[in-house]
Amino acid sequence: MKILVINAGSSSLKYQLIEMETEAVIAKGLCERIGLGGKIIHKTDKGSAQYDADFPTHQQAFEELVKALSTGGPAVISSMSEIAAVGHRVVQGSDRFSASALIDEDMLNTLESLNDLAPLHNPANIMAIRACMNVFSKDVPQVAVFDTAFHQTIPEKAYIYPIPYELYEKHRIRRYGFHGSSHRYVSTRVAELIGKPLFQLKVIACHLGNGSSIAAVDRGKSIDTTMGLTPLEGIAMGTRCGSIDPSIVTFLMEKESLDIKGVNDLMNKQSGYLGISGLTNDLRDLHEAAAKGNKRAELALEILKYQLLKYIGSFAAAMGGVDVVVFTGGIGENSHKIRLGACAGLEFMGIELDEEVNKDVFSREVEISKPGSRVKVWVVPTNEELVIARDTKEIAGL
Ligand code: ADP
Repeated sequence: MKILVINAGSSSLKYQLIEMETEAVIAKGLCERIGLGGKIIHKTDKGSAQYDADFPTHQQAFEELVKALSTGGPAVISSMSEIAAVGHRVVQGSDRFSASALIDEDMLNTLESLNDLAPLHNPANIMAIRACMNVFSKDVPQVAVFDTAFHQTIPEKAYIYPIPYELYEKHRIRRYGFHGSSHRYVSTRVAELIGKPLFQLKVIACHLGNGSSIAAVDRGKSIDTTMGLTPLEGIAMGTRCGSIDPSIVTFLMEKESLDIKGVNDLMNKQSGYLGISGLTNDLRDLHEAAAKGNKRAELALEILKYQLLKYIGSFAAAMGGVDVVVFTGGIGENSHKIRLGACAGLEFMGIELDEEVNKDVFSREVEISKPGSRVKVWVVPTNEELVIARDTKEIAGL
């Protein structure tokens, strides 16, 4: 049985077709420049193809992607009827959805009512779901898997912001947290790798990519996370500032004559490693510049490592201890220097990294702590698509 997993943005559609018996990815790709022309990058075991296409809308992109899956030499299905269900990544499910769910018109209306909470993401997710429903037969179940759902177990004391409570009631302003599928996947997987039940472990999951968040997963439940109402809060990221003194916002609006859009752009697109270094949002380039003596690139790296160390310490305090720290995401899976910096100095907490092992780990499942380390440290490549596919299978009753 095959499940199609969709991660849609306002002008792009990432997809994977997964064979559920083996959980193998049999095709994956990207439709981009939707509404601006169109380009498709499509990969299967038989090879990869990249060509220009014409997608004025998401619906046409879906039609093209079904064609790519089912026609020509690299076809992996003979017709779209082989796709048993479709799973969609939805960024914001707020406190309305604490688990993945079957999509129907009621759900889409509810999601539309949440657009103010995720204006950059949810409208695109909804548009893509509607387009997909137009392309597939009504018999094909469509399931939404929310980035926020895993964090719905966070207690009130960690999700309420200290602003007038009525504003929480009126606007639902609270911590939601994101990257839920990734935190769920790596915490579950690391428990399997260690050979202990997840409900006996206190895990700190560090998802470090272009967007980064850390989660405290106490016996399988998220009890705190660094991202908040939006994916802007928490540690410094590629172009996002993360947590800063809130009064910087009004200060900058006044001193730099910025309006709401201007200050939002500054915090989301011009800050983080890019803002500190003045060079790049890409960690590989930062490492390279720092190695050549660029002081601001080095500072960006120091800030990232220091913030990670602080959050690991504070989440261990929040859980009353920690058994496992797990690194994932492009940076967490590949940068041994950041992993080392995040753990160096935490020996007092029982975290002892094996520097020799750590140096050689790129995107594979490996324990990187010393054999006697009280707290285990692991690298586990994330697999959000597999979480979406598994949930879709279960919810669709397949
Ligand atoms: P996204 O959040 O967009 O999914 P990724 O998880 O792919 O992003 O992470 C992208 C980040 O990972 C970039 O900053 C990139 O420089 C970094 N990265 C990827 N490979 C390496 C590597 N080998 N060493 C250091 N950083 C890496």
